[in-house]
Amino acid sequence: MPEIEFTGTGAAAQVPVWGCRCTICLRAASIASYRRRPAGLAITGEQGVTLIDAGSHHLAERYSPEQLQRVVLTHFHMDHVQALFQLRWAGGRHKIPLFRPDDPVGCDDLYKHPGIFSLQKPFQPFQQVEWPGLRLTALPLQHSRVTLGYLLQTPGTVLAYLCDTAGLPRETERFLAESPIDYLVLDCSEPPTRRPPSNHNDLNRALAIVRRLRPEQTLLTHIGHHFDNWLLEHTRQLPADVSIARDGMRIPCP
Ligand SMILES: [Zn+2]
Ligand SMILES: [Zn+2]
Ligand SMILES: [Zn+2]
Repeated sequence: MPEIEFTGTGAAAQVPVWGCRCTICLRAASIASYRRRPAGLAITGEQGVTLIDAGSHHLAERYSPEQLQRVVLTHFHMDHVQALFQLRWAGGRHKIPLFRPDDPVGCDDLYKHPGIFSLQKPFQPFQQVEWPGLRLTALPLQHSRVTLGYLLQTPGTVLAYLCDTAGLPRETERFLAESPIDYLVLDCSEPPTRRPPSNHNDLNRALAIVRRLRPEQTLLTHIGHHFDNWLLEHTRQLPADVSIARDGMRIPCP
């Protein structure tokens, strides 16, 4: 049975934030299960693992090159790609396809020296690809550089992964409104705020998206330490069908 796992659920600074002495960061520094690595997913099927983003350096310890079937990038911010700079030097003849958004200035060093990765033609908006056991549709998001979310469909589960976005473009919202979603995995970097961040969702904006798309369940990700601190007091204010993702959390796909 395929399985989807959160390889990370943190914002760019991760949790603990380096040098921070807040309650959340001190807790995460002493109890590993509270850590938040850079946000990403691993989809494990019979034929291997598809990574959505590769920002976390623990991926090198977790997977062998032979286990990785492909890597799919949402965008070229460092917290989503930095592990590739290490992984690319793997030995052997095996090549790992690397799928990406159309960002010509994405990561020029990676474009020049992709190593074990074979760069695939960039995805176009709403392009669909089908691999055994997994269909993927590329969804434009609103962020400070070209960024894609993905609708991921396994035989029994539909999951929308919308990380690094401030609200949603109208066409993406229209597309998703026509697709029943079992799990919405959504950017929510900040607690509710009067001036929401320009590149991410705060909780108000995230919940407005949830109300419009009406998925079965929502898991919030790309979480910063301010939001984690807010949650210490306010977890009960979340709607029953909205929860907070954790690193290592698994979603079974029947
Ligand atoms: Zn990010
Ligand atoms: Zn902190
Ligand atoms: Zn980003």
